[in-house]
Amino acid sequence: MKFFGFGSSLALAIAFTGSVSAQQIEHVAITDSIHMLTGDGGNIGVLIGDDGTFMIDDKFAPLTEEIVNQVKALGGETPRFIINTHFHGDHTGGNENLGELGSIIVSHANVRTRLVDGSEIKAFNMVTPPQPDVALPIITFTSNITFHLNGEKISVIHVPNAHTDGDSIVHFGTSNVIHTGDVVFNGFYPFIDTDHGGTVKGTIAAVAKILELADGSTKIIPGHGPLADQEALIAYRNMLIIAEERLSKIKSNGKSVDEVVADNPLTDLDHKWGNGIFKSDQWIRIIFDGV
Ligand SMILES: [Zn+2]
Repeated sequence: MKFFGFGSSLALAIAFTGSVSAQQIEHVAITDSIHMLTGDGGNIGVLIGDDGTFMIDDKFAPLTEEIVNQVKALGGETPRFIINTHFHGDHTGGNENLGELGSIIVSHANVRTRLVDGSEIKAFNMVTPPQPDVALPIITFTSNITFHLNGEKISVIHVPNAHTDGDSIVHFGTSNVIHTGDVVFNGFYPFIDTDHGGTVKGTIAAVAKILELADGSTKIIPGHGPLADQEALIAYRNMLIIAEERLSKIKSNGKSVDEVVADNPLTDLDHKWGNGIFKSDQWIRIIFDGV
């Protein structure tokens, strides 16, 4: 498994908490001013320019110094603005450090609520404590918000009940680049956080929204996995639609999740999509409440 640098759901849970590290952060240049930072945690998108550095997500706390150093090496500075695409710790773990450095954190309102209250993801036995004030988004929105920075029009758009109930996608309209947050895991079955409002149908609708904004030359930064494009997103959407159709049909027959898993309804998809975090038997258990 290459995308995360770890290979099991247990390792995913550990990585969510930030206690595993060491995978090198690498950068992928998308335009002269927009970059993707890979490595442990969710993919970062960063826009650099004279009006200041605009960053999407901030991985885990122990990586903040390396992230800021990378951004500076690319010609940027400590981020002026940070978008949290959702509340998960592999996307917001750097908030406290960056808040202390003066970055202004912006998110959907539900992200702030989860960071204030703390959260538990039962699928991974993962508890995140309430975050201190300095780690919280100080600007929140419920539908969308637009930034005008470095010659770029940046639309941050809420997509309801997809990976969570507080997801945003970020569209750089001038440069034709989209950061999807965890609505998209490029190339493998996605984690969908059904404990916190995530649903398969909402994820499909969110991908449809991204495809509305995209064309054949759009560069798409997924929450996890390598840089994507329109074709990759269409394949991902089609896989989700097949899974949703099959599982909702079985579910409406009143079968339990154990009975559904025993039927192996998605094994034909595993060769393409089951090489990331989950095989379909594990993935069905993750998403079944969200079907
Ligand atoms: Zn996530």
